[in-house]
Amino acid sequence: MARYHADLHLHSTASDGTDAPADVVRRAAAKGLRAMALTDHDTVAGIAEAQAAGAELGVEVIAGVELTCYAGKREVHMLGYGVNPRSKALRVHCERFQTARIGRAREIGKRLAAAGAPINMDQVMASADGGVVGRPHIAKALLAAGHVASWQEAFDRFLADNAPANVPKLLITPRQCIDVIREAGGIAVMAHPGLNNQLDLIPLLREAGCEGIEVWHSNHDEHTTYRLQVMALEQGLLATGGSDCHGEMKDGGPLLGDWGLGKAGWEKVEKALRDRKDTPHYARR
Ligand code: AMP
Ligand code: FE
Ligand code: FE
Ligand code: ZN
Repeated sequence: MARYHADLHLHSTASDGTDAPADVVRRAAAKGLRAMALTDHDTVAGIAEAQAAGAELGVEVIAGVELTCYAGKREVHMLGYGVNPRSKALRVHCERFQTARIGRAREIGKRLAAAGAPINMDQVMASADGGVVGRPHIAKALLAAGHVASWQEAFDRFLADNAPANVPKLLITPRQCIDVIREAGGIAVMAHPGLNNQLDLIPLLREAGCEGIEVWHSNHDEHTTYRLQVMALEQGLLATGGSDCHGEMKDGGPLLGDWGLGKAGWEKVEKALRDRKDTPHYARR
């Protein structure tokens, strides 16, 4: 018996995960999950493959995405659930960010060189392998070059949001970001509010059209999870959860299916997706 019913935050090689979309679904099935969402950064390129594998393996695969926006200087991640992968608004948005990310990776490379930690940018782009390039690919290159001893050290010293080599992506507002998700027919959910302590932003995001918060996440301690549960209840927000597993990318964890939703929690999310009259593409099997 699996501990969880659904893991709604997963990455694949379409962005900065290490497993192909179908392999992510295989792992979910092996773990006993009944549902999952593929939530790659700024792309829905892995959705079709994941849903095909899900249909075969009996895992319901929600079309998801994880987008970035900025509340002032603070980077906020928004999950979109039940998005239409063919949405033009979403495609245009993702293409803009994918392009910006390439320039940004090069800029981060320059800053690293200036900080005495040069990396091979060709290697970074090769490890993204046509997928959306992100800081984890750069962390990997820092490790390969021997500038750091762990993935986490790469972030702590160079790449974290406030670290010297980080460069913002496109500076869009939460409302712009949420509008894209809604226009694509999706439900906007704030990702990992406990990461960088962003609980204070929840009312503002709700005002901008955010309909849920990620309560259960590999980075949330017990106290944060509890506070988020209360906030979801009090503010009428959907409570979601997931591991944010990137495969083998991060120092051995977090692991797929070790965080997520039980059956009752999943059913609430499923109902919210089903209830959306403006999401005709969300067909219930
Ligand atoms: P990017 O999309 O390029 O901004 O990279 C974001 C990814 O980097 C996240 O999904 C995490 O996997 C990772 N990340 C961001 N900040 C940190 C941090 N402080 N510590 C560890 N990993 C992080
Ligand atoms: Fe990531
Ligand atoms: Fe995130
Ligand atoms: Zn994520």
